[in-house]
Amino acid sequence: MKEDILHNLEVIHDRIKKACEKAGRNRDEVRLLLATKTVSPTSIKIALENGQTLIAENKVQELKEKYEELKETPHENHFIGHLQTNKIKDILKYDVACVQSLDRMDLAEKLHQRLLAERKTIEVLIQVNTSNEESKFGVYPDEAAELTRKLSELSTLKIKGLMTIGLFSAETEKVRPCFRLLKNLQQEIIKQNIPHVEMKELSMGMSGDLETAIEEGATIVRVGTAVFGARVYPDSFYWDEGV
Ligand SMILES: *Cc1c(COP(=O)(O)O)cnc(C)c1O
Repeated sequence: MKEDILHNLEVIHDRIKKACEKAGRNRDEVRLLLATKTVSPTSIKIALENGQTLIAENKVQELKEKYEELKETPHENHFIGHLQTNKIKDILKYDVACVQSLDRMDLAEKLHQRLLAERKTIEVLIQVNTSNEESKFGVYPDEAAELTRKLSELSTLKIKGLMTIGLFSAETEKVRPCFRLLKNLQQEIIKQNIPHVEMKELSMGMSGDLETAIEEGATIVRVGTAVFGARVYPDSFYWDEGV
């Protein structure tokens, strides 16, 4: 198991390096985030003890279950799943550094209230639904700039950029327009010069399409299966509400 994970990490880092070269980008511009849903703390630790620093969960329950076992191993934890307002407390309790899936004002306001009470701040990315699929979360592209403006007024939220899942397709060329759209939105929002808004990060690209995402400007690629192997549940289980 350990050998598999280390080998897979090597392959992924090589893919990232080659994609950066092809796109004429500096390798330092792209961070690898390990999507660790369903992955055991033992496996996660193997990655963290071998040079990896950034992981993310989709469900608060899993974050909670793995917290104790991982807390002594240095790492940064992001949240990439649909966040329900009644789970906000846990996000803060279990040291999530960045919520990548912020996509609505009511959630942001509740998060802000809680952060104020705890005298904390948190980094956020705004999740955009770039594929226009009903089942996926994220603000619609034409509402992203407006949401960014409203969020920027909440002092506890450090807006760092945008995140998208993109079209779920084995054909990477079909996903490319989603990534391009996210990049365009980033540029559009940067032009608006909104105070307290940083738009540096573009979190996009997964195991199957990270090269395309890097070509289109990704600064964070989120990889699960290509490092830890296939999951039992379909991704829709993690992307749908209330399950
Ligand atoms: C699971 C997941 C990933 C990683 O997907 P893989 O295909 O396993 O690499 C990336 N982003 C989100 C939001 C996910 O839920």
